[in-house]
Amino acid sequence: MTQPAIYLDHNASAPLLPEARAAMIAALERSGNPSSVHGHGRALRNLIETARGQVARLAGAERSQVVFTGSATEAITQAIVGGAKAFGPDAIAVSAGEHAAVLKAAEATGLPVITVGLDADGLIRIEDLAAAIAAADAAGRRLLVCVHLVNNETGVMQPVERVEALVGPTPHYFFVDAVQGFGKLELEFSFRAPDMMAVSGHKIGGPAGVGALLVKGHADIVRLIPGGGQEQGRRGGTESAAAIAGFGAAAEIFPRRFREAKVSELIRTAEDGMRAMAPDLAVFGSRADRIGNVSNFAVPGLKSSVATMGLDLLGLSVSSGSACSSGKVGPSHVLAAMGVAPELAGCAMRLSFGWSSTADDVEAFLRGFGEVVGRHRSRGGQAA
Ligand code: PLP
Repeated sequence: MTQPAIYLDHNASAPLLPEARAAMIAALERSGNPSSVHGHGRALRNLIETARGQVARLAGAERSQVVFTGSATEAITQAIVGGAKAFGPDAIAVSAGEHAAVLKAAEATGLPVITVGLDADGLIRIEDLAAAIAAADAAGRRLLVCVHLVNNETGVMQPVERVEALVGPTPHYFFVDAVQGFGKLELEFSFRAPDMMAVSGHKIGGPAGVGALLVKGHADIVRLIPGGGQEQGRRGGTESAAAIAGFGAAAEIFPRRFREAKVSELIRTAEDGMRAMAPDLAVFGSRADRIGNVSNFAVPGLKSSVATMGLDLLGLSVSSGSACSSGKVGPSHVLAAMGVAPELAGCAMRLSFGWSSTADDVEAFLRGFGEVVGRHRSRGGQAA
């Protein structure tokens, strides 16, 4: 039986919103370079500046604080590699649950990297971060502290206000990877402690290949790509007016569409349904506050590679662990940091809903899940 493929992997990339597509097509139909002062250039510049306002509004930032980049990975690298160069911190502090974009950028600075662990619920160990900050203070050293707002694999919301309380009033620098919280949580960049924050277009129904770094005035000196002075000298390279316009349109419409999809209810129904069929189901991070659109789960003994392939054959696109690292199938560093045993981590799958998700998607998923688990049991895989 063939059925239309169902997309259950919004954390990897959300489907393009129709409004974003329309904005992109309108921009693509225009010729020119947004830096040109003639009419063609000015028209593209206007599109970019409108999008800057839209992204700024969603982030609770000033327009002047938004620097468009080619991805959130680039924005993160600008914040960390560029931040290391601009501020000269003595070390970078990261949590063990950061996205590879953060971990690799920290490594690329060549500075000592202090890694703060996660607890079993997937939360950053605040007391360990406090100890690292106290030790740096005692030694007269400055840190660039990098934490994420929402974990892309588990959906666990990090206690960023507690990190703010530790880092905010100190001479340390503070960067937040807000990619998975942007558009889903209220952000107030201008009024909060982080010096820099990164967001992405394609996680909110905009196109891939565009992101933004938010910078406070004193962090305005942070650079990665010098180039021809675009983005007020903060990021060189001719801007993709189409990608930026799509990002702006998505920023405008995404929060409402996301809210209307009632994703928390969908996730709850999915988890209840899975538990009814597999009472031994493990849901990672379930004791912490989760953002509501993600479930990271495992049926002990049912390998995620087997399960996701079985679901894929049924037309259900579910991720095994973190999508940004899929292709490279390996154990999740996030689950490892939470102390999940490797055999169980090897069974982890991620379901993530978003603006286009519906109750029908959940129903189809549960039918597929039941089939895959039933096949596993019939081959001798027992419920614990
Ligand atoms: N940070 C987090 C938490 C993410 O989930 C992702 C992508 O999955 C990124 C950063 C990278 O974003 P981009 O794909 O725009 O480079």
